[in-house]
Amino acid sequence: MSEPHYRRVIVKLSGEALTGKQGFGVEQAMVERLAADLVKAAALGIELGVVVGGGNIFRGVEVSTRGVPRPVGDTMGMLATVMNCLVLEAAVERAGCEARTLSALAMPAVCETYNRKRAMKNLAKGRVVLLAAGTGNPFFTTDTTAVLRAAELEAQAVLKATNVDGVYSADPKKDPKAKRYERLSHQEAIEKDLRVMDSTAFALARENDMPIIVFSIAEKGAIEAVLRGKGRATTVG
Ligand code: UDP
Repeated sequence: MSEPHYRRVIVKLSGEALTGKQGFGVEQAMVERLAADLVKAAALGIELGVVVGGGNIFRGVEVSTRGVPRPVGDTMGMLATVMNCLVLEAAVERAGCEARTLSALAMPAVCETYNRKRAMKNLAKGRVVLLAAGTGNPFFTTDTTAVLRAAELEAQAVLKATNVDGVYSADPKKDPKAKRYERLSHQEAIEKDLRVMDSTAFALARENDMPIIVFSIAEKGAIEAVLRGKGRATTVG
């Protein structure tokens, strides 16, 4: 078997990844599967930080269309990510690996507050570190959080889990001629308007020369496969 290519990575899971077949909220069986994947990946000896989205529960932009101020909607979205992290933390621990949720919004009765040193220490102990509450600021996304945390925690890459096996020239579900890229630079992704992540996240990745590996989470063991340089994925950067 090939050796893993990385020492420390940030995995980005969207809230949607936790919904499984039910299409909203959290499907426990899906959480258990993702936790098993994370534990397998951690068993390679790679330090794993995991940024979890919240779109399966609340998205600030959507909430704000109902008359709620956008920053309040965004706070709801960030709180949703905390719930997702807590359910995943419990599942990772049940699957046999220590895990810690660190939240960018202080809530000491619930979990520890994020700071860089604390995150580094937990990673060094081999714990799966769940990075909750996004950046802690409204008007940002968890994609931006993933790139930000990857840069500040000196990770070698962001592994962005999606429901397609990489970056395509067009939506492969709508356009059968869509071309899949194996590798491309940040600049090429911008020039081709491929929208790998939202523009803030992507700008941060480009500035920090942070590779983004886009892969499908649909297959069991997908995270481990990507870390071994196997499986289908697109590397941007
Ligand atoms: N959010 C935020 N600041 C952040 C990260 C997230 O305000 O730094 C809010 C925002 O409202 C966002 C929601 O949390 O819509 C859920 O995050 P995201 O949409 O990135 O989740 P995903 O689409 O990955 O499930």
